[in-house]
Amino acid sequence: MPRNKAESIEKKQYPKFRKLLEERKNTLLQHIENVGAELSYLDQSRPPELSEEAQEEAAAISLKAVDAREREELEDIVLAIEKLDDKTYGTCDSCEEPIGLARINFLPSVRYCISCQTKLEERGKHQGSF
Ligand SMILES: [Zn+2]
Repeated sequence: MPRNKAESIEKKQYPKFRKLLEERKNTLLQHIENVGAELSYLDQSRPPELSEEAQEEAAAISLKAVDAREREELEDIVLAIEKLDDKTYGTCDSCEEPIGLARINFLPSVRYCISCQTKLEERGKHQGSF
């Protein structure tokens, strides 16, 4: 038995977190869809004979319109749901130690334990200042 490990979530808590993650995922997807719908509405006011190039440009703009942070969160949620399927949910993606119940309750799509997250952020800061 591991000693002095951070309190991890139990498998019986998986359904609760799956529900939270699915709900958040649906909210994000709906928002992304709404942004797309707004853009296609705007498209209708344009001349119908758009070139392929112009259509590609419009698609690129619609992707940018979706907040980058929302897309990142959505990716994290998809990964978290995959970890639920793999029965590895609640462990760190980097060191595979338990993430800790308090941290997961606060952010169910969290991928790293606090020490790996801190390391990653410090690395990011160094890259940013370069
Ligand atoms: Zn870790």
